[in-house]
Amino acid sequence: MSDNTPKYKIIYDREGCIGAAACAAANADHWEIVEDGKADLKGAKETSPHIWERTITESELQRNLEAAESCPVRVIKIIEIASGKQIYP
Ligand code: SF4
Repeated sequence: MSDNTPKYKIIYDREGCIGAAACAAANADHWEIVEDGKADLKGAKETSPHIWERTITESELQRNLEAAESCPVRVIKIIEIASGKQIYP
């Protein structure tokens, strides 16, 4: 069904993460703090050094937006795949 269609892409610059853990507090389904004190974006692939990406569905957008908005250093970017438009920040 269309609900599983990848609609948005999260682009996470892990190098800039300061381990504030706000993302994981906002959305533990996709974000977790790991051994080095930084957040991992679950299910993401490293597409270039320190840059991690994964797609999400429409229903997964809201809670990832909350994670992105909560990040004090704004290292979580969200793009709408079809239009290429940056949703956040
Ligand atoms: S909120 Fe931002 S700085 Fe804090 S752990 Fe998540 S990605 Fe890192």
